[in-house]
Amino acid sequence: WSKKDFPWTKKLEANNKKVFGNHSFRPNQREVINATMSGNDVFVLMPTGGGKSLTYQLPALICKGVTLVISPLVSLIQDQIMHLLQANIPAAYLSSNMEWTEQQEILRDLCSGHCSYKLLYVTPEKVAKSDALLRQLENLYARELLDRIVIDEAHCVSQWGHDFRPDYQSLGILKQKFPNIPLLALTATATASVKEDVVQALGLVDCIIFRQSFNRPNLRFSVIPKTKKCMEDIDKFIKDNHYDECGIIYCLSRMDCEKVAKKLQEYGHKAVFYHGSMDPDERASVQKMWSKDEINIICATVAFGMGINKPDVRFVIHHSLPKSIEGYHQECGRAGRDGQHSSCVLYYSYSDYIRVKHMLSHGSMEQSSFASGYPRSTPSYSGRVLETNTENLLRMVSYCENEVDCRRFLQLVHFGEKFDPLSCNKTCDNCLKTHTLVDKDVTQIAQHLVELVKSARQEFSATYILEVYRGSMNQIVKKNQHDTLKLHGAGKNVAKGEASRVLRHLVIEEILLEEVKKSDLYGSVSSILKVNEKKACDLLEGRQTIMLRFPCAV
Ligand code: ADP
Repeated sequence: WSKKDFPWTKKLEANNKKVFGNHSFRPNQREVINATMSGNDVFVLMPTGGGKSLTYQLPALICKGVTLVISPLVSLIQDQIMHLLQANIPAAYLSSNMEWTEQQEILRDLCSGHCSYKLLYVTPEKVAKSDALLRQLENLYARELLDRIVIDEAHCVSQWGHDFRPDYQSLGILKQKFPNIPLLALTATATASVKEDVVQALGLVDCIIFRQSFNRPNLRFSVIPKTKKCMEDIDKFIKDNHYDECGIIYCLSRMDCEKVAKKLQEYGHKAVFYHGSMDPDERASVQKMWSKDEINIICATVAFGMGINKPDVRFVIHHSLPKSIEGYHQECGRAGRDGQHSSCVLYYSYSDYIRVKHMLSHGSMEQSSFASGYPRSTPSYSGRVLETNTENLLRMVSYCENEVDCRRFLQLVHFGEKFDPLSCNKTCDNCLKTHTLVDKDVTQIAQHLVELVKSARQEFSATYILEVYRGSMNQIVKKNQHDTLKLHGAGKNVAKGEASRVLRHLVIEEILLEEVKKSDLYGSVSSILKVNEKKACDLLEGRQTIMLRFPCAV
């Protein structure tokens, strides 16, 4: 697909220079364009900032009809349209927020003899709900003026993905209605199973797949234990490494965003918060101040980011646990789009895992963007979506708990990509460590912990089980008479960190299940451990050994 003798090659190159001002193509851009211009269905996996927009905007410009683009986010659409109009490329969008008469006008234009638009952007819910739109598309199709259909952020189709959106599922109708129109699905994040799901749900036929490495060599990754001093740590980190530079701090809840922003202001940073409870005008004004460098730190929920095109973001800090590795990778991807060195620091505490888990199962987690009409927080999920969310979250915990393997390696494995940790060149915390590593057989510790959960009748938290294991004689232990258990104190010679790592490993492997218990009056969340009998029996009956790798200081 990299050939330069397609009938459209000359026009393509000329317009890339003249209209878009680019001197050349970036990796895979020419290939994707040639494949879609040849009439194929195409699936593109390209990291954020890779230049996906050009792969459909340039074809739209040199084809005779209209390109339909489905994009989840109105603010992103507006941003794109602004750029297109600046380049004199006629483009329009339809969204439920617009006046009906305005929408009618655009639709009328579409069905008039000469459509004046090269690109028409819509949100997915428009496709699902607007018969008027479908009728006009049929009209264009019949007149052979529907060139191509583009699905941006295509991973939103998949329930396996980290950002599932129900409206995306109705997009399968497009291939049924317009079987001869090439579809172009674009995403910056998709694992193998998400890709399969997208291909199926959209009905892509014999689709050609382009993917490129998700490694971002200019980003430095680290995970830092989150303590009570977390805000001081963040302040120091920024002052030491990125004084007066631009950064994003991702927080779990709206309240966290406000608290973190206030604290940073007290420390003298130009910081503001951004989240879904703010009205659209407020959000737009924050985005504007940010792009003009009037503020340099945004404390935000994941609602901030998709489509934010600031090239010089020097750091992305996660104040709490992201809900999936895909989400994390995408959020970090907003740093260093200009190719300069940038930092990605994640503050991790196991108690955040319990909080996120609770928020996921109660639907109080913000989505990563706002499509018009999309609810501001997700509905309470159940069944497969909840299961997927929990699994994604556990993988994230496992990533944070890992103090040994290269961070890039761990992320890229998740995307099905091979990566030699030596190529990290000490640009992640684990590769920077100077300790040697030892593999340790922790089977007996694991057995004891599982036995303890059982003998405490599966009614207690991880912290409590660890206390009993290490022989605590505190009041609650005595009151529950757990000081009389056979395994009380069995781990008194095991280092605390070691026992808790084994316990978390058991949760990650789902040998122990962590059940989030109802929050109390003050909204705090607790959890209790249960034994997954099916998975635990091999361990308890001695058929399974558990090895963990521990750093050993030199
Ligand atoms: P993505 O959607 O993959 O995150 P964009 O399409 O927004 O990326 O492109 C990111 C930036 O790269 C934009 O500022 C765009 O103008 C620029 N860009 C895209 N293609 C090229 C190219 N061939 N040469 C130079 N700059 C490009």
